[in-house]
Amino acid sequence: MPAEAVRKGRAIVIGGSFAGALAARVLADKYEQVFIVERGDPPEKVLPRRNVPQAHHVHLLLQRGKLAIDRLFPGFFSELEQLGATVADLSRDIRWLHCDIWKERFSTDIFAHYCSRSLIDHVIWRRICALSNITYIPHTKVTGLVAKNGAVDGVQCITGDRHHSLMGDLVVEASGRGSQAALWLSEIGYPDTPMSTVKASLGYASRIYRRLPEFAEEWKVLLIFPRLPASRRMGVISPIEGDRWMVTTGGWFDAFPNPVEDEFLNYLHGLPSREIYDVVRRAEPLSDIATYRMPGGLRRHFEQMPSWPARFLVIGDAVCSFNPLYSQGLTICAMEAEFLLSSLDRLLADKGSSRICQEIMSAFSHIVEQPWEQAKNEDMRFPEMGGSPSFALQVRHWYMTKIAEVSAHHRGTLVALLRAINLAEGGNQLFKPHMIARVLGLSLQQKMVKMWR
Ligand SMILES: Cc1cc2nc3c(=O)[nH]c(=O)nc-3n(C[C@H](O)[C@H](O)[C@H](O)COP(=O)(O)OP(=O)(O)OC[C@H]3O[C@@H](n4cnc5c(N)ncnc54)[C@H](O)[C@@H]3O)c2cc1C
Repeated sequence: MPAEAVRKGRAIVIGGSFAGALAARVLADKYEQVFIVERGDPPEKVLPRRNVPQAHHVHLLLQRGKLAIDRLFPGFFSELEQLGATVADLSRDIRWLHCDIWKERFSTDIFAHYCSRSLIDHVIWRRICALSNITYIPHTKVTGLVAKNGAVDGVQCITGDRHHSLMGDLVVEASGRGSQAALWLSEIGYPDTPMSTVKASLGYASRIYRRLPEFAEEWKVLLIFPRLPASRRMGVISPIEGDRWMVTTGGWFDAFPNPVEDEFLNYLHGLPSREIYDVVRRAEPLSDIATYRMPGGLRRHFEQMPSWPARFLVIGDAVCSFNPLYSQGLTICAMEAEFLLSSLDRLLADKGSSRICQEIMSAFSHIVEQPWEQAKNEDMRFPEMGGSPSFALQVRHWYMTKIAEVSAHHRGTLVALLRAINLAEGGNQLFKPHMIARVLGLSLQQKMVKMWR
């Protein structure tokens, strides 16, 4: 039977950014109609949108996220390349100062696609526009849920000054970090949603420059990641489409620059190496400086709710907004969308029951758990986080620093580190006994060589 014949019902997705578009793509396999309700503009142009201000800053798609996106949109990365994305080996093509040591560069099988976040959103938007059963409704803000008898039946919306409702068989909330899902649930009689935060006081500043061709042979990306917590500033020169660089700097608990040239350049000058500053001050700026501040990670524990309405799901940053310095957000959205795809048949067979929706929310929480802990553990290096880290966490910090040092000169350790950062297959090797023994042995060896010299 052709897939068209089995599609039925109507799904509504709140928010037409990354998570919303991925969710819509998945739902379009089984629902006759999928509506994306977006309060702002669609990503019709390759430009940052007002409602997605983070698009002014560098966005790296991790290996695991790329895998999920390629499954949802086959050929997606070739399309990005055709539109000007740069493919880079995450070791060979990257000049990377990590914990005050420049990494030796090796060939690996871990590649990233560097382009602007706006290009990613645009290409995904083009793909979903090509699906005849998806309708994108822009300039329409969702203000609440329509619900009765323990099930969500639709959403209340406002377009201009017209209030109306849109009814459906499933509502997927993907309105990002500022999600009102917890409030909407309480309005229809559900208890408060438990939340966790990591108050890491983060700041970003970014500007686009014309790429200087003389560095093309030397590196594609120049990255400075500090030794935490002694230094708290990172910086990166990242290629984007149109032969340009996006230069992003920022960090934790710092006096972040205002969007003015002197402050931006001074901040770059204060990075653990002057190298980015020395390149950037010779390059021609093509944009204003954009800044972004956020208090830190925010996680909504929907999986802990004692009760949950039928026909309602939450996805993406609306569930968990990570510290962006670890580049996890998009990948987690993609992994959640991938899980949704694998649960669609059960979701439909069970008519979107409260039980199946709760199971999916628990699975999303499981997807979030490890990267959330990974990021939180790193942020806990800062005394400003309050409380003293447990002995186990102190050992972990010490060990992760050793990995950073050893991986500067040892390919195997570097590949293991890159896999862990990229949430990739085999990314759980860092804490295996053979790896611990290797890292400690190599660390001792490197120390002795240094003393000898
Ligand atoms: C500075 C910064 C840098 C980042 N860098 C990276 C990186 O390198 N790699 C990475 O993987 N991730 C990164 N992230 C995280 C990434 O941006 C997010 O994980 C991702 O955007 C989440 O997608 P989303 O669709 O859930 O939310 P968003 O992209 O925030 O989109 C939410 C959408 O919902 C719409 N909306 C909101 N409320 C309503 C409403 N009531 N009705 C209708 N529509 C509504 C908004 O207009 C918006 O379009 C970064 C984040 C920041 C802040």
